[in-house]
Amino acid sequence: MRFSFCSAALCLALAQVASAQVALAQQAADALAPEVATSGGDIQTLSAAARDALAARDAGRPVAAENWMVAAANPLAVEAGADVLRKGGTAADAMIAVQTVLGLVEPQSSGLGGGAFLVYYDARTGQLTTLDGRETAPLAATPRLFQDDAGEPLGFFDAVVGGRSVGTPGTPALLEMAHRKWGRANWGGLFNAAIALAETGFAVSPRMADSIANDADRLGRFPDTAAYFLPEGTPLKAGQVISNQPYADVLRAIAADGAAAFYTGPIAADIVRTVQGAAGNPGVLSAVDLALYQVKERPAVCASYRAFEACGMGPPSSGALTVGQILGMLGQYDLAELGADNPDSWRLIGDASRLAFADRGRYMADSDFVPMPTKGLVDGDYLADRARLLAGETALEVVEPGTPTFDHALNWADDESLEFPSTSHISIVDQYGNVLSMTTTIENGFGARLMTNGFLLNNELTDFSFRSHSDGVPIANRLEPGKRPRSSMAPTIVMRDDKPVLAIGSPGGSRIIGYVATAIVAWADWGMNVQEAISLPHAINRFGTYDLEAGTEAEALAEALTGMGFEVNPRDLNSGLHAIEIGDRLHGGADPRREGIALGE
Ligand code: GLU
Repeated sequence: MRFSFCSAALCLALAQVASAQVALAQQAADALAPEVATSGGDIQTLSAAARDALAARDAGRPVAAENWMVAAANPLAVEAGADVLRKGGTAADAMIAVQTVLGLVEPQSSGLGGGAFLVYYDARTGQLTTLDGRETAPLAATPRLFQDDAGEPLGFFDAVVGGRSVGTPGTPALLEMAHRKWGRANWGGLFNAAIALAETGFAVSPRMADSIANDADRLGRFPDTAAYFLPEGTPLKAGQVISNQPYADVLRAIAADGAAAFYTGPIAADIVRTVQGAAGNPGVLSAVDLALYQVKERPAVCASYRAFEACGMGPPSSGALTVGQILGMLGQYDLAELGADNPDSWRLIGDASRLAFADRGRYMADSDFVPMPTKGLVDGDYLADRARLLAGETALEVVEPGTPTFDHALNWADDESLEFPSTSHISIVDQYGNVLSMTTTIENGFGARLMTNGFLLNNELTDFSFRSHSDGVPIANRLEPGKRPRSSMAPTIVMRDDKPVLAIGSPGGSRIIGYVATAIVAWADWGMNVQEAISLPHAINRFGTYDLEAGTEAEALAEALTGMGFEVNPRDLNSGLHAIEIGDRLHGGADPRREGIALGE
């Protein structure tokens, strides 16, 4: 059965209201600061500053600046953001330029067809808030979407590839909402850099080329996707210059008419046709889902850590809660005294993380649909109690969820969703003191592998638990129509005395949580600068096995951790941390495991 929350006439009226709002916002922005509009410009050749930033990153040195800074996963995107900031745009303005370029040059990770979470510190009001641009489950989807006829979960990639996994994209609406709330530049001009690159062409990066080569079979399943990434059947190569006119056309439409140009009309119709017509694995996303999509502003979730408050994205993300739980437990132990090389520090970090992941699996989901103990999970007394479990000297033998104070008495079964890494993180500080931390995704690398109008569609729905119940007990993160799948994305702004001191975040599926938490520990407790904290070899424990970053000094922990009872597993750990420290000056760092830089003036 299909649900419809608005008749065709009502949907049209909703869309008209939305587009009138856009027009008004645009007029207001035009009147405010027309000089801030960006011109595409020739940003293909990296500036000397960008080349210096790459060298600094690889040498483990942070980039310093006085006024503004932007850190993200691709130098072309960073330069587009820097251009906006230099001309007086805000962090929100710059983010739009960065995101639209990333959607072109790092299309496997994020873009218009995906979703994002944004944390924003508004220097004028001193307020911290978050925008939830997470994808929603179509109204026609049921909790059995990812189950076979016998009620058993589908294989992960059987679910991902095709229309079935596509949720209603949230990123275009989030760009518009961020601009409406905090923008200063002309909305239309913020798309110029991406339009120019899409039309004149850009060089495929090594990482993009690798991702394509590794996924050629799946990308080859859909003609439009194959035509772009595998022209004449051959994967694009690093350095090959390609253009993307359909993407430029979509950006022009959004630049002219706002996000309504995406959520209604021909682009929306193409999205629906692509999802519903996906050969072998069609989905149920409809025009109504797109027309009804809304970004939600939500209060930031903060957890205390020593002199700091780590603030970020609450439900439907598990990011801030799980990072906050880890830090809250670690706050009971003196990690500064123990030091970064001490295996006992890593025992504490690893087991605090396992305890937090146990709570995450039991309690965390979209709180608009399921009651959650959101406050209880980061309550200081609760975490101090949980931290007592870490007082021993060996790995915990049993890790169970705790019993945080619930607003309602409830019982959930543990979640069974899988996540694999792609995604991108953007950190920005502008000359007005506004701070932005945004993690943006289409979920798996290349999302659902479906392309329309030059952008890829997400597979975010596979972040739901494929099972809806376990032994008759419902799972909080089960799929329901209109619900947002639980995320691990953890865009974070660390505060001290009510002022922002660090913006940080990473891609990496559910390992995001460990990447962000340990980088904060390295920075706050071990005195590392942002670049050192980012480059620190990873040791990540979510569910028991200690992942150690292969080929790095983290492997040296193997013997001690094994002796404590941990199982260890050396492997690639592809974080993409991008961080800016805000002090007397700004210091930024970019993850050497990806291709990005931090740039500022
Ligand atoms: N879809 C994941 C999430 O929302 C992110 C995937 C990734 O980081 O690669 O948590």
